[in-house]
Amino acid sequence: MAVVGVLALQGDFAAHVRVLAELGAQPRVVREPADLEGLDALVIPGGESTTMTLGIEREGLAEPLRNLVRAGTPTLGTCAGLIMLDREHLGVLDISARRNAFGRQVASFEEELELPLGAAGSEPTRVRAVFIRAPWVEEHGEEVEVLASVGERPVAVRRGDVLAVAFHPEISGEDGLHRWLLERVAARAEHAPPATREAA
Ligand code: GLN
Repeated sequence: MAVVGVLALQGDFAAHVRVLAELGAQPRVVREPADLEGLDALVIPGGESTTMTLGIEREGLAEPLRNLVRAGTPTLGTCAGLIMLDREHLGVLDISARRNAFGRQVASFEEELELPLGAAGSEPTRVRAVFIRAPWVEEHGEEVEVLASVGERPVAVRRGDVLAVAFHPEISGEDGLHRWLLERVAARAEHAPPATREAA
């Protein structure tokens, strides 16, 4: 069973825990570095990015989180979680996020999006995306793939097994992105060297 850490310093982590449990994974709330031991995947939820940043600093989680993501651990960041992954925060995804980018007039809205997460030619993952004072991706490096945009603005980006979305999939009961995360865990286990596989 995949052990999936959900950063739980602040924000809507409980909804992610619920979705993961329903999919048969073993969610683990992460509040301190020891909680990161042996994780197969990581979720950084939405919330308020300044508060979350302060919590990460206070708990000494910045470096261990960076190491975990850089080691190739499948990671999903949603909304404030996208901001946490960017260049100015944890610096593990080559993007710059613009906070509250859609402005006061359209603080919250919903969109149907299609994310091409599978192999080439496979059906895209359809998501009812709930945006709440959402960021967008202002700038990104060449290796970052844009999976979906609202207007011209990227709102779902991926590099390898790190997926960052500007919206909340968990609120509308969507589980497609969590399924993707668990698929990446399974794919990694298949390709792991035998020693690692035995230990897992
Ligand atoms: N506006 C929040 C921030 O900048 C993010 C909103 C969210 O996670 N729903 O931190």
